[in-house]
Amino acid sequence: MGQNDILFERAQITIPGGVNSPVRAFRQVGGTPRFVAKAKGPYFWDADGKRYIDLIMSWGPMIAGHAHPEVIEAVQRAAETGFSYGAPTEGEVELAERICQLVPSIEQVRMVSSGTEATMSALRLARGYTGRDLIIKFEGCYHGHADSLLVKAGSGLLTFADSTQNAPSSGGVPHDLVKHTLVLPYNDVAALQEVFDRQGDQIGAVIIEPIAGNMNLIKPSQLFLSTLRQLTSQYGSVLIYDEVMTGFRVALGGAQSLQGITPDLTCLGKVMGGGMPMAAFGGKKEIMSKLAPLGNVYQAGTLSGNPVAVAAGLKNLEIICREGFFECLTGQTEKLMTGLKQAADASGIPFAVDSIGGMFGFYFASQVPTSFEEVTKTDIEAFKKFFHLMLDQGVYLAPSAYEAGFTSIAHDNAVLDEIIGAAQSSFKRL
Ligand SMILES: *Cc1c(COP(=O)(O)O)cnc(C)c1O
Repeated sequence: MGQNDILFERAQITIPGGVNSPVRAFRQVGGTPRFVAKAKGPYFWDADGKRYIDLIMSWGPMIAGHAHPEVIEAVQRAAETGFSYGAPTEGEVELAERICQLVPSIEQVRMVSSGTEATMSALRLARGYTGRDLIIKFEGCYHGHADSLLVKAGSGLLTFADSTQNAPSSGGVPHDLVKHTLVLPYNDVAALQEVFDRQGDQIGAVIIEPIAGNMNLIKPSQLFLSTLRQLTSQYGSVLIYDEVMTGFRVALGGAQSLQGITPDLTCLGKVMGGGMPMAAFGGKKEIMSKLAPLGNVYQAGTLSGNPVAVAAGLKNLEIICREGFFECLTGQTEKLMTGLKQAADASGIPFAVDSIGGMFGFYFASQVPTSFEEVTKTDIEAFKKFFHLMLDQGVYLAPSAYEAGFTSIAHDNAVLDEIIGAAQSSFKRL
């Protein structure tokens, strides 16, 4: 038994399932989770001292690579002057200014400590602003674990016609709450049009991952996005872009900068904190000014705008703003995907790939899926085998076929070659 097994057994005594966030438990792929001892650049080392190339990067935040020396220095400097004050600091103002400059649809921004808090607060604000309870989300999109967002459609395409058929996807979520959340299929223009035709004037907000990264990687069609923007504007519903994953990861200005869509509110997290507990929501000043202390929508946080997290976030944003950062990251990610695809083709395995900025998806299927339903039809058994073959060779992929993958600027050519080499031998053995 290795150290990972020993730690996992020990962890399960005092932590439910041995982990503090479910996907870490390797339930879909089986086997023992790797306990991380340390990380640097594109690598981490587990409790047995084995090195892995990391293709999760903390699920997105570590875009500059693990333990970046400049971020470490910024954090150390901040820590020396105190960890938290419960009073405002200049750093928060600087970070807010930087965010508003990089994402022009954000006129004002409020900082929180997790993506879950960002989406939960943005929804409350949208409901407070419009005075409407009903919200729309899309199947397969994840927006953190707030009650009203842990909902998926009952069965099939048109179950939203009777919203009481929506079932919470978690225990402990009241059915009474769920009836305020309508769930539509991603990329389904007709379903969107139909629900707005019927009850558009009751819809307070639509929340969407503008590039979905929580059902593997799924891109929206331009028609779907433009219809969404047009209908929400027409009916006075707040369009919330959940860019917790895509913000500062697919491009400096997030998915919205690539799509030419201006949302009313945007949620940020992950890259924004550079690995520290830090997230934010922001948007139109007219909406944001409904927040306490200016307006009657309450929202607060003891650790919000934490100075150490702000220091990490600011330095991380400074690094990704440097000349050529995103061109390089995008090129490397595309190169990795091309290499994986060629390796699969050489072994005659049906395999499709997609990527954008420093985010990628691969699918054991002949085509890139466009909805959650299509993702569930990819070959999950083949994925599981591939995952373990790669893991054995020191490449750490997301332990689920329903998650996207992430690169960093530290994933250089030598690292990519090593991943592709491991993939070639894995595909041969599939
Ligand atoms: C990760 C994620 C969240 C939740 O963020 P946490 O910090 O884990 O609470 C919300 N929305 C999206 C799109 C995410 O990827």
